[in-house]
Amino acid sequence: MESSDLDFVVEILEAELRPYRDSHQTYRQLPATGRPRAEILAEMRELATLEEPKWSEGFASGAVYHGGPEHISFLNEVYAINSQANPLHPELWPSAVKYEAEIVAMTGAMLGGGEGGVPSVCGTVSSGGTESILLAMRTYRDRAAAERGISDPEMLVPLSAHAAFDKAAQYFGIRTVAVPLGPDWRADVEAARSLVTDNTIVIVGSAPGFPHGVIDPIEELSELARAHGIGFHTDCCLGGFVLPWAEKLGYPVPGFDFRLPGVTSISADTHKFGFAAKGTSVVLYRDRDTRQYQYYRSATWMGGLYYSPTFAGSRPGAISAECWAAMLAFGEEGYLVAAKAILETGAVIRRGVESIPELYVLGDPLWVIAFASDELDVYAVMDQMSQRGWSLNGLQQPPAAHICVTLRHSQPGIADRFVADLTSSVEAVRELPGTQGSMAPIYGMTGAVNTRGTVEELLARYGDLQFKA
Ligand SMILES: *Cc1c(COP(=O)(O)O)cnc(C)c1O
Repeated sequence: MESSDLDFVVEILEAELRPYRDSHQTYRQLPATGRPRAEILAEMRELATLEEPKWSEGFASGAVYHGGPEHISFLNEVYAINSQANPLHPELWPSAVKYEAEIVAMTGAMLGGGEGGVPSVCGTVSSGGTESILLAMRTYRDRAAAERGISDPEMLVPLSAHAAFDKAAQYFGIRTVAVPLGPDWRADVEAARSLVTDNTIVIVGSAPGFPHGVIDPIEELSELARAHGIGFHTDCCLGGFVLPWAEKLGYPVPGFDFRLPGVTSISADTHKFGFAAKGTSVVLYRDRDTRQYQYYRSATWMGGLYYSPTFAGSRPGAISAECWAAMLAFGEEGYLVAAKAILETGAVIRRGVESIPELYVLGDPLWVIAFASDELDVYAVMDQMSQRGWSLNGLQQPPAAHICVTLRHSQPGIADRFVADLTSSVEAVRELPGTQGSMAPIYGMTGAVNTRGTVEELLARYGDLQFKA
């Protein structure tokens, strides 16, 4: 594909991104006078109703983690009660401060902190997994600069770690050192050992990683970090609210949290399997001295004494209230029951994929099931799944796809429908030899340095499209 062919791809993407252009008015400036509120509500209800079946009927990978109508109504009620709250103004909303402190405490206690665990575990609420990761990486950078005089910081990041780590590296001027994976798709500990230098500020591991749902050897990696006196971050964005319960249910869960002495920080997403509304995550630290580096403070600003714990200034207190309410509504038992349903569904889907001879499962996953093929173009299989209504995640290096199982898929019949649709998708691709998925040529370009730039250009143009009214 040439750079000039991008126009064609962009046109297709634009049509997909803007399905309402012909049917609904586009606002490129404010309406001269306000529209009736009832009319606005009606239009938004119409669009939401169009979009709901896909996720509510379990066709999406990840995306909506609970999605039960009763739980949604409960969260909406909580939002309505707290819609004006802003934790930046604790004198007005001490309730928001209470909710956030308790979200952090409950999450910490679940992951090896608190009473009976490491009592110094502390943290803050952030807006999502990416912010939690960005905050932790910047904290390590600033701590290493202050305490060890490191001006050329490096972080050791397994190839399977979330893009948020590379984002942190780009934003904060940290060099990413890639840790290769073993044949089981877990980070290679011996390779990591050989990559530590005097400039290494933190080693990263995922429990589990986004692409393959595989848990890195956190115990060994965190011991390596401890031996060098550097930080170790467990990315538990996906697993924070599943693994503690999987362990209690008797699944094979290796150590991943603060019970391991080398683990110095953890990110855990309340807005994924914590079943909170989108917009919260927790970043935890083993000790308060490290958390200090995360805070922004100004003693001299003309606007007065100023402190904020995360990147934002004003923040939505209602979103934190929803998170707190979700955690209380589930409790340990509620999360355990949910985890059981998700893990059992994951096992059904994994067995289903394994029953298709042309496909194989990557690694030894529990509920994020990635599959690849040595015989067929897996992106063509993904296209066939899209035609059957599914929205799966495409992966690369190697070409693969995954489904992240949520409570939506534990509804009766959904896992069986997935396996049946996947079986017929594979058959369809097999019967049309040479079929390439629509993403295959694009993914094909990311492997080579001379064409990778074209894909990066495409991503930038996608960004432009997203904000083109
Ligand atoms: C989702 C996820 C993230 C990023 O979280 P966002 O909430 O999308 O910002 C990071 N790591 C892992 C393993 C994830 O699954």
